[in-house]
Amino acid sequence: MIDPHTHVADILARGGVSNERALYDWLFNVKKPTIYAMTPDDHAVASALFAAEALRAGITTFVEFPEVFLMWDDESEAILEAKLNEYDSAGLRNIYAQAFRDNDDVPSNLSDFVGHVTRKEPAVEHVPMDASLSGTDAALERIGDVYDRYHDPSPDSRQQVWIAPENVVTATDDGLSAASEFAERRETMTTTHASETVHEEHGELSHVEYLDAVDYLGKRAVLAHCVHVDERDIRLCAATDTKVVHNPLTNLMLGSGVAPVPTMTNYEVTVGLGTDNPSGNDTINPLSDMQYAALIHRADRRDAGAVTAEKALEMATIDGARTIGRADELGSIEAGKRADLTLVGLDYPHLTPSQNIASTLAFQTHGHEIDTVICEGEVVMDNGVVPDIDERYPDLLAESQKRADEVLSRAGLDSMTEREWTSRSDK
Ligand code: FE
Repeated sequence: MIDPHTHVADILARGGVSNERALYDWLFNVKKPTIYAMTPDDHAVASALFAAEALRAGITTFVEFPEVFLMWDDESEAILEAKLNEYDSAGLRNIYAQAFRDNDDVPSNLSDFVGHVTRKEPAVEHVPMDASLSGTDAALERIGDVYDRYHDPSPDSRQQVWIAPENVVTATDDGLSAASEFAERRETMTTTHASETVHEEHGELSHVEYLDAVDYLGKRAVLAHCVHVDERDIRLCAATDTKVVHNPLTNLMLGSGVAPVPTMTNYEVTVGLGTDNPSGNDTINPLSDMQYAALIHRADRRDAGAVTAEKALEMATIDGARTIGRADELGSIEAGKRADLTLVGLDYPHLTPSQNIASTLAFQTHGHEIDTVICEGEVVMDNGVVPDIDERYPDLLAESQKRADEVLSRAGLDSMTEREWTSRSDK
């Protein structure tokens, strides 16, 4: 299975810290401060925890969208190396979508909004708005350097690099155009966040229309979310062969809305299934996400045929491979493709009887039934055990909990972990 959009480091901020917060409240009061407080060793443990969970969940390839300020501070290089070492050692395919932000001229309504949501959490060590800001040329130079060092274009590659403007609002016109050119010139891909919440759609043009106007859209472009898009936006994605990542769990958890996926697939837009933020999902579990992806659109459209079980399975596999531009190599079991396989045990009461395997996978599994994962012909998860991580991190769970507690404390989030029983939200 292929996860075309996730944020690995968020994993230390999950477990009930961000409950009931909407996107910007969670983003600026929980997610960014947590990652800002993490050391290279914290990132290594977070990456190992992510890899252990992802492999147990049957993921062989994932696209990481790292936090945007992990490019400029002194520790960034150590953090990058720590992350990539963990993925390499665990044996799953990683695509590192190096993020950048080159626009300090964010619309005043958005700046005000961020000011309002951060003001209510005075104890939090908020990330300075300029911590991640760079000039367009400097960002391109840095990402070119990361690409030159870590992008392996060969078919058996387990490490590739994309370029990722953080989102439509924090990248300039030039930055978005340059990202598209970067991807074209180096035969890689580019990804950004688009139209996740109603708050972001604020201009004369929709996000997708704007991205079309600055020449960002195209077969090498992957847009995460596209929740608040209309039919015209979807036609633009179809006409330009722009890919979309559907992240149903974070959209549900943060109350962002329901992406019009059935309309996208009717227009033959390629839609992959992403896990997005481990602190807004709160799991890395594509089998479970398939169930949500198949069900929420049925309720939303009042149409029991809106998303079929087979389409949900395609979104987690072959459509994910199409999303990342590697359908010739990955995403289905065919002669000549890379040997990436996820074996699902079927001998469970809840999977019996089974008359249609796609339906059983989408609607009956819990996610723990995966017993073996093979990546590039190598067994990387065997009967629930990821040998590499088991060996290097014999106390992974205790160490992850300890580091999470320490990071949250350094970030000023203690009060969020000392929550009283809350039957009615006050947020
Ligand atoms: Fe995201």
